Amino acid sequence: MAATLLNARILDGLGHAPFTGNVRVQGDLITAVGDAQPEEGDEILDLSGLTLLPGLIDAHVHFGGSADPGEPPLAGAAKTDWYAEARRKTLDHGVTAVRSGGDFEADILALRDKINSGELEGPRIFTPGRGLQSYGGHPAFTAYGGDPEIAENAFAFPETPEDAEREILRQAALGADHIKAFLADENLARPDVPVPRLRPEVFRAAVSAAHRAGLRVMVHCQEPDFVIEALEAGCDTVEHLMCASHALKPIRPGTAELFRRRNAIAVPTIVSGFYFKSGDAIMDAQARMVAYLHEHGVRLAAGTDCGIPFIDHGAALHKEMELMHRAGLTVPETVAAATSGSAAAIGRSDIGAVAPGKKADLTAVGGDIFEDIGRTRDIRLVMTGGRIVRRA
Ligand SMILES: [Zn+2]
Repeated sequence: MAATLLNARILDGLGHAPFTGNVRVQGDLITAVGDAQPEEGDEILDLSGLTLLPGLIDAHVHFGGSADPGEPPLAGAAKTDWYAEARRKTLDHGVTAVRSGGDFEADILALRDKINSGELEGPRIFTPGRGLQSYGGHPAFTAYGGDPEIAENAFAFPETPEDAEREILRQAALGADHIKAFLADENLARPDVPVPRLRPEVFRAAVSAAHRAGLRVMVHCQEPDFVIEALEAGCDTVEHLMCASHALKPIRPGTAELFRRRNAIAVPTIVSGFYFKSGDAIMDAQARMVAYLHEHGVRLAAGTDCGIPFIDHGAALHKEMELMHRAGLTVPETVAAATSGSAAAIGRSDIGAVAPGKKADLTAVGGDIFEDIGRTRDIRLVMTGGRIVRRA
């Protein structure tokens, strides 16, 4: 199976200026970009007037969660019909891969494999096993209210460095793609009374064990000091930073330099402030933080935290891109954050770009996204692994 996409305005996802050209796809790979010519038997898709992007990648989702506060806050395959709504909405919005920030471990791993084998249609999924956090802490005992089903399926509570190492080895053996840990003491119900945090030596042991097992580590942080602690421990991506109501806390001097020195990626999930209706002061503070990181050469990835109340699968990534652009990223830089940047956060170089040798995950949009980046919502074609899954 081969196809040639003709006359597209191509944004390659690597931050370059757009150019007009053709893309040839063979099997699940992009084989030529630019003056690629169709060969006999190719399916021909004329993309005149459309902009072709790499398939978008949301670097932070909770696939078993719902934007609807009336739905279970986090669920597995049984209650979600194998995540049917999340899968559908994600592809509908041109998002061809997601990195989970924590889900029901056994179910999301099984879903990933069902999608990879072609049994179910959905975005590529990259997922951790159980999220490492303190017993009594955030989020299992705050946002998820200590729900025993959620705590048991989605979280691990290591008390000692040895516990953490055992847990990492267990997840590695299970086939987790990365590790998720929480550096947090926020108490949603009583902000003045912090909940227990993961002990520093337990956290450091988890990061080291993950790296020995070849797994990257994504760390939830909403406090300036936790961001520094996560980076100093060697984590690979920092999630949220100071998002939503934490956005007014001043970031520590030297944070950007530390990101760069550790080759770590920031996933600011600024949409949360928008969907939580946090107000202008907080949205401005978040934009300033993103601008500070960007201006200081920190690599950014676009993640949304979708699957928590009010933040919906697929749609939220387009809002995150709008907000990143408003914070000062150019259109090609914004698209790069939501494609190759998110791929780098996952640790995959074979997705997130329109270039020969990459997976044929592609999204074509109508309208001029340089005039209005919100036009990324005008989805006309979505391809994953060389298969057309949406066409308008
Ligand atoms: Zn999250």
